[in-house]
Amino acid sequence: MVDPELLSLLEPIDEYNQELLAQVHPPEWVNPVPADRYHLVVVGGGTAGLVSAAGAAGLGARVALIERRLFGGDCLNYGCVPSKAIIRAARAWHEARHASERFGGPSVVGDGDFGVAMKRMRRLRAQISHHDSAERFASLNVDVFLGQGRFVAGDAIEVDGKRLSFRRAIIATGARPVAPPIPGCDEGCYLTNETVFTLTRLPPRFGVIGGGPIGSELSQAFARLGSRVTVFDMASHLLAREDADAAEIVQQALVRDGVQVTSVEITPESKIVHFEKDGQRLQTPVDELLVAVGRAPNVEDMGLEAAGVRYDRSGVRVDERLRTSNKRVYAVGDVASKYKFTHTADALARIAIQNSLFFGRLKASDLVVPWCTYTSPEIAHVGLYKHDAEDQGFETETLTIPLSEVDRAVLDGADEGFLRLHVQKGKDRILGATVVAEHAGDLLAGLSLAVTAKVGLSKIASTILPYPTQAEVIKKAADTWRRGKLTPSVRRIFAIFFKLFR
Ligand SMILES: Cc1cc2nc3c(=O)[nH]c(=O)nc-3n(C[C@H](O)[C@H](O)[C@H](O)COP(=O)(O)OP(=O)(O)OC[C@H]3O[C@@H](n4cnc5c(N)ncnc54)[C@H](O)[C@@H]3O)c2cc1C
Repeated sequence: MVDPELLSLLEPIDEYNQELLAQVHPPEWVNPVPADRYHLVVVGGGTAGLVSAAGAAGLGARVALIERRLFGGDCLNYGCVPSKAIIRAARAWHEARHASERFGGPSVVGDGDFGVAMKRMRRLRAQISHHDSAERFASLNVDVFLGQGRFVAGDAIEVDGKRLSFRRAIIATGARPVAPPIPGCDEGCYLTNETVFTLTRLPPRFGVIGGGPIGSELSQAFARLGSRVTVFDMASHLLAREDADAAEIVQQALVRDGVQVTSVEITPESKIVHFEKDGQRLQTPVDELLVAVGRAPNVEDMGLEAAGVRYDRSGVRVDERLRTSNKRVYAVGDVASKYKFTHTADALARIAIQNSLFFGRLKASDLVVPWCTYTSPEIAHVGLYKHDAEDQGFETETLTIPLSEVDRAVLDGADEGFLRLHVQKGKDRILGATVVAEHAGDLLAGLSLAVTAKVGLSKIASTILPYPTQAEVIKKAADTWRRGKLTPSVRRIFAIFFKLFR
């Protein structure tokens, strides 16, 4: 019998969500008899836990994996996967609506079918869920347990009344949406990322509290799907972490799509959002309200005290090598990292396997972490921002190449945005890069490689890229940097040379 609260996260219970459930929380699952002792017990079956368990089992370790809700965690069930499926639908609707005026295409008017877009999301989510399924992990020789994992000692965890002894454990319990105290509005009156994907009807008026990556992505998607969207944020700007001019491009794109962005203090009462703006008390009614104001680590009710694992408000405390205050126990993913991304959960898990089982000495701080917010245009970043570089004592040179200088971006009608590189002064090393572009996340791949492998701008300038591609913006930046190296004295030498060889 599946917990009704868990089932409510998988509404509507149609064929696709049933298929998903069968993969990630099989209703008839019987937990195995535990082994005498495991080399590794992993608590949490999101990306970080799955990668840890699969990696360790693949190397021959005896592994147990514990998940209390849905295998795949946030990313598969109510994070990256459903959000990107909806963003794709919203992009298609947006392009269809504007095909006539932009490209002389057929005119498209009227509403789309939100229910069909959501059904497509559920179908695709179910389709890829087998990668994370309980069955698959069992077939990889992992002992798979459904239930809440709780440490009962420094070397043992209990789940479903069974005691699992371990040599090493990895905590990968992730994070959940922060529930802010809003007078007149308890948890049931708003949506979070865990419930927004259960919607089957488009809310005509959609309020979003929080203008970070999740709030920005979903507010634009819902606006493009036809909601009248208002984003409420204390900051004067969306995506406050990014460079102001980069975030401004994204904010303007959202506003063009009909998103109203308001800097406010919120008091929703019966879905009337009361707020203050420029000293005025205002109110706006919404049919649904999404709260996306941050993530809280899942550290409660899991016996961390019994295991001597220290934690605080930001999560489980780990050292550079991801070890907690209990030398047998490591922690990875959203529960222990400031970088709350699927790709970092994956990367940290790989480090934890090495360090916990093979006396590895890999450090999390050596990772180069890229990220991308999937608005339109996207905004992506890797490495250091200028202020970080300066704080670390680097003298920097900054190059900004607008996409309007890149033929393919112009031809695609996607020339709003830029590439910005921070380069170490006197060297050709890229310290950090920001891209604002329709497919900034993809453009960032080459730059992430360059920053990680320390491929300098000289090498990039001598690399041939296919024409016309938007990726040429990277080569243009390298060429611009190289031209800047022509100092007045070098120019004088060239002038003499060309005089001699007339
Ligand atoms: C709307 C949204 C969109 C996102 N989009 C992106 C994106 O595009 N790209 C990207 O890189 N990242 C994205 N993220 C972030 C990404 O989803 C997370 O960084 C990633 O899922 C973290 O993985 P994790 O394994 O650390 O935690 P989780 O995925 O949260 O998994 C933790 C698991 O542990 C289980 N658990 C907790 N406590 C216990 C316990 N005591 N016993 C047993 N099990 C337990 C939980 O049920 C959960 O399944 C998005 C997040 C959201 C919310």
